[in-house]
Amino acid sequence: MTQLDTRSVHAGRDDLAALGVHVPPIDLSTTYPLPDVHTGGASYDALAQGRGPDGGSLVYQRLWNPTVARFEDALAELEHTDGAVAFGSGMAALTACLLATVAAGRPHVVAVRPLYGGTDHLLSTGLLGTTVTYAEPSEVAGAIRPDTGLVIVETPANPTLDLVDIAYVATAAGDVPVLVDNTFATPVLQQPARHGASLVLHSATKYLGGHGDVMGGVVAAGVEWVGRLRQIRAVTGGLLHPLAAYELHRGLQTLPVRVRAQQATAIKVADWLSAQPNVERVHYPGLTDPAGLIGRQQAGPGAVLAFTLSGGYEAASRVASGLKLITHAVSLGGVDTLIQHPAALTHRLVASEAKPTDALLRLSLGLEDPEDLTADLAQALALA
Ligand SMILES: *Cc1c(COP(=O)(O)O)cnc(C)c1O
Repeated sequence: MTQLDTRSVHAGRDDLAALGVHVPPIDLSTTYPLPDVHTGGASYDALAQGRGPDGGSLVYQRLWNPTVARFEDALAELEHTDGAVAFGSGMAALTACLLATVAAGRPHVVAVRPLYGGTDHLLSTGLLGTTVTYAEPSEVAGAIRPDTGLVIVETPANPTLDLVDIAYVATAAGDVPVLVDNTFATPVLQQPARHGASLVLHSATKYLGGHGDVMGGVVAAGVEWVGRLRQIRAVTGGLLHPLAAYELHRGLQTLPVRVRAQQATAIKVADWLSAQPNVERVHYPGLTDPAGLIGRQQAGPGAVLAFTLSGGYEAASRVASGLKLITHAVSLGGVDTLIQHPAALTHRLVASEAKPTDALLRLSLGLEDPEDLTADLAQALALA
């Protein structure tokens, strides 16, 4: 197989030359002509059961869309999985995984905190019929019950950038599938399926899209899970729109270049922040990696960091509002640098025992010049 950079550019585009085009066509059809009732019915069965098109009709966009399928094929190639299933957001993707777990009669989930606030909230509320046990990686084996259907980890974790040893958790989970949220690392830095994950989830809204203008979610997995998730998507309708799929597929072409450039900036900014007197602690795997996972599991420390202010909430709040070049906004992974206060925003709904400290700010580095970013941070830190 070719290298990741090559695949990023070409994956999901194998048939373009035969079609006589240079970029993928966008198929916006919500419905498709049926050759005859019998063939239409057979196609419907194949798609509704998650088997993919059988050469007949594509029937209806909720069952299949070729533009979405191109993005899925490309992402699966980067993640080293059989396939992928795309959804309208990261949370819709997670919802489908949890519904599949409930449908299989194993509604108990073991989850390693910290997790993205929305994930933590969805698990804690049990809205979808799941129950949850939160565990440290070393407690996962002991937390597994006969009705456990899924183990969920996020590495690097949102918002503190903690790393989890995926292979260790996969071994501890035994037969129970492990879902890894790979949003922060992207397949450029980490391919969780190679370390034993059964499901690799992305909020495609972040790095895959990369420009802050498209929402999506995707799960890369083996054939069986792909079929199950397609089936759930067809029934529940948490679809990715074909125009969004086009943008995400295009986003993959520049993903390696963006992630590496943003990571180089993050390394510089993390070092700079570490030397600032009113910064108490910088959370960044490039600075501390006690388990030695950088190089072994993750190719580099990534482009998101977090830091605490010695002045606590008041100082964090003044820094967030005092920045001029850096945008004070939730989300991450785009070409522009964003900062936000997890305890007040992305992790607002997390239970107090697992909530990040209110002295913490999360910074997602973009493609600006690092010196312009540190200059902006310097003037804002002076206000703290
Ligand atoms: C943003 C995010 C999600 C949720 O994705 P949406 O696209 O906002 O629904 C899930 N996991 C992580 C790590 C995230 O950062």
